[in-house]
Amino acid sequence: MARYTGPSCKQCRREGEKLFLKGARCLTEKCAFERRGYAPGQHGQTPRRRAVGYATQLREKQKVKRIYGVLEEQFRNYFEKANQKRGVTGEALLVSLETRLDNMVYRLGFASSRKAGRQLVRHRHILVNGKIVDIPAYTVKPGEIISVKPKSRDNEHILQALKSSSAEELSWLRLDKVKMEGELLEIPQRASIPTTVQEQMVVELYSK
Ligand code: SF4
Repeated sequence: MARYTGPSCKQCRREGEKLFLKGARCLTEKCAFERRGYAPGQHGQTPRRRAVGYATQLREKQKVKRIYGVLEEQFRNYFEKANQKRGVTGEALLVSLETRLDNMVYRLGFASSRKAGRQLVRHRHILVNGKIVDIPAYTVKPGEIISVKPKSRDNEHILQALKSSSAEELSWLRLDKVKMEGELLEIPQRASIPTTVQEQMVVELYSK
């Protein structure tokens, strides 16, 4: 599946807020948004107009796509599937994105960002129920065990990321740092997903 290959920091500057796409670097003074908090491009430094209506919804949709590293077509598919489910569409959309394997690898703390999580999956470092799964968009189901391949357990990047894992704060995840394995205990409720995303705006945009 295609993915965005341009500069991550440009995406934060475009959205006018930190999206934390680069892991630990985002918390340092090297963060491009801290240094150049204006929009990219020739007219980036002209004051932003306050977005209203359609523009606000569009920006929110772009933000969600960028946070989860999903391109338009795939994102639209997630929305269509969420729309067919019972319950709140926005919440179903968010749950589909949260249960992607690359996101789970990030949430468990095996990677410092979703992008790094995607790379771990693509490079076959991650097992689901003991078998290699190299599809970042794979949907993790409750009860499935996500672990780091034994040969990759001394990977410096994984060990470093695990040190700052905050998976213990999420009630819907279980993490065993020693065994380097985690589990999705249940489908997360909206209130327990730590994100500032306003998914309802995406629903309003696509429902026009
Ligand atoms: Fe965004 Fe992180 Fe780049 Fe800062 S360092 S601009 S938060 S991706």
